[in-house]
Amino acid sequence: MNELDTELLAAMMANTALRLAASADELSRIDAVAGDGDHGVNVSAAFADASARLTEACPALPSDVFLVVGRSFSEGGGGSAGALFGAYFAALGKRLALVANPGVGTFAEGLEAGTLRVAELGRVALGDKTMFDALEPAALAARDAVTAGGDLAVLVGAAAEAAARGAAATADMVAKAGRARYAEAGAVGTRDPGALSVSLMFKAWEEVVMKGIVK
Ligand code: ADP
Ligand code: MG
Repeated sequence: MNELDTELLAAMMANTALRLAASADELSRIDAVAGDGDHGVNVSAAFADASARLTEACPALPSDVFLVVGRSFSEGGGGSAGALFGAYFAALGKRLALVANPGVGTFAEGLEAGTLRVAELGRVALGDKTMFDALEPAALAARDAVTAGGDLAVLVGAAAEAAARGAAATADMVAKAGRARYAEAGAVGTRDPGALSVSLMFKAWEEVVMKGIVK
């Protein structure tokens, strides 16, 4: 399984929509501790929109799957995370569009390109308690998996594990970006909602790839 399959990618996005919808209340609850309590609605609505668009017309190219997700985020206008996830998926889709038959190596490069875009746009670094704290370890784990000869299952498994560790670690961080930087005591003790969304997203991708579900 080395080339990326468009239907598999679409199924990964559909499962992300399901998982984020199931966790929307929890994501909004932790966003309410440090921010304004809308994160669960923002991300689950954008993924539901992307999933509906992909069901209606599954694109021919892997790059287009991510470009559709990017548009759902940037056009949906869901908070800071909407703009940042929009830029993330746009960068990932653009990277995949550069080659004729993108495989896991290009996918890993796309995850890095998206992650870099979030850091630039959000002006954040590791430890600032944002989605970047889950995206960066996931991208590095994906690259390492590819370097070691891993396939898509190995890539998403490694990325999901790294993102989960990254998201868990945000609980101990002092918020330095977004609305959360105004939170009492820097929201220490609560995980960053954006980082948790990223972790749930990679977990949802892993579930689909492991089961080989193609709808
Ligand atoms: P808003 O903060 O506009 O209400 P959301 O609640 O949907 O948007 O998203 C909040 C999440 O967005 C945070 O948990 C954090 O992960 C991410 N975020 C906010 N600002 C930044 C930033 N400058 N850089 C990176 N991520 C950010
Ligand atoms: Mg919010």
